[in-house]
Amino acid sequence: MAVYSRSAPKDLLDEIKHLEELFAIDTTKLKEITHHFADELTKGLSVHGGSIPMNPTWVMSKPTGHETGEYLTLDMGGTNLRVCQVTLTEQKSEFDIIQSKFRMREELKTGVAEELWEYIADCLQQFIKTYHGDVTNKIPLGFTFSYPATQNYIDEGILQRWTKGFDIAGVEGHDVVPMFEAALSQRGVPVKLTALVNDTTGALVASAYADPKVKIGCIFGTGCNAAYIEDCGSIPKLAHLNLAPDTHMVINCEWGAFDNEGKVLPRTPYDISIDKGSPRPGQQAFEKMVAGLYLGEIFRLIMVDLHDNHDAYIFAGQDISELRKPYSLDSAFLAAIEEDPSKNLSNTLELFQTDLNISPNAPELRLIRRTAELIGTRAARLSACGVAAISIKKGYATCHVGADGSVFQKYPHFKARGAQALREILDWPEKEDPGEEDPIEILPAEDGSGVGAALVAALTLQRIRDGNM
Ligand code: BGC
Ligand code: MG
Repeated sequence: MAVYSRSAPKDLLDEIKHLEELFAIDTTKLKEITHHFADELTKGLSVHGGSIPMNPTWVMSKPTGHETGEYLTLDMGGTNLRVCQVTLTEQKSEFDIIQSKFRMREELKTGVAEELWEYIADCLQQFIKTYHGDVTNKIPLGFTFSYPATQNYIDEGILQRWTKGFDIAGVEGHDVVPMFEAALSQRGVPVKLTALVNDTTGALVASAYADPKVKIGCIFGTGCNAAYIEDCGSIPKLAHLNLAPDTHMVINCEWGAFDNEGKVLPRTPYDISIDKGSPRPGQQAFEKMVAGLYLGEIFRLIMVDLHDNHDAYIFAGQDISELRKPYSLDSAFLAAIEEDPSKNLSNTLELFQTDLNISPNAPELRLIRRTAELIGTRAARLSACGVAAISIKKGYATCHVGADGSVFQKYPHFKARGAQALREILDWPEKEDPGEEDPIEILPAEDGSGVGAALVAALTLQRIRDGNM
């Protein structure tokens, strides 16, 4: 067990104060992080690059609403595999969707590559059998693959590295499309991969389809990332392609990698411990502080540390063996603590009793609540730095951001805390009318991995028909 060296505080109030110092990020620091973030976004577009990958996606226009056709979409997420059939109908901006979800077993994420592709191909086959019957022409597929990938073409994805706890040998550094297509053709699944799409790109495209003010797509979920629209003239690493400077290119930032070199983020000993114990130490520094996969684990590490290593130790005399299991608490657990409406935190007590076999006393319950608040608040405030950095880089005074992911949708106060941080970073005056919009609003995205991926497939086929690839 890691021992974090610091002098032991006398009581729980001191512990809380110490945690507040570790986790609070004031306005000055938010601004410092944001400005460094904006510089790093620019650096990622340069020929030499930086730590943020800034991947060109070959999505080069927004949908007009006149796209038509039938598409399959596949989203390989951390918990589920979602397959959709999306019909973009003749009526402008209208669509029909049918979907199925399949479970992604934990073992698949750290197993053998072939098994992953075979499982995915089987799910697709089952879906097509159920909904299509006989298929004469191969159905175009938009594949949402939410990991950093190099794309020289839209139907290519050379995996840069696994993130979010995935660790499957033999995939990093390789194009995932041929591996996936091999599994499809072995089974005779009548599907043609038309576009490989990051989830942030899907969120951006789907949201922009419905709301022209949307300029950024974000995911705040198991992982964390954003995509936005860049002008090719501002992408020196694509200069050799001689694209017109005003050509649009959606950039998948992969901002989870921000500050891998450890220059500005105020990492705590707990963040460092998460990184060391992860399958890819040194990678995704920003993501490991803000994304859903890690929030519960940060909390767990704090609790174990307070139990083991401090004078005013918590859960005295109790068996904390359940709490010692890595990644046993997810962000829904923290969300439940933050949502406990009872004054004496009785729901939290019950949660600890049922899930962990621990009965915290009253001061411990207050410490638990405060710790959850600190972790959730830090995540929201740091997330806002990314949004502000893109806005500053692009000179957006106003825009809408389409956001999706479990943390954005379900984590209590995430939206309000993020909005408050944006206000501090960008020096917006207080609103006169609380109902008024902020200059930059982070709003729930439209269905990125369904409609978004289908639209990207449609735009790609359109571009091929038009003969400009
Ligand atoms: C991945 C991104 C993805 C994000 C949200 C990160 O771990 O690297 O590609 O967009 O998670 O799912
Ligand atoms: Mg997802």
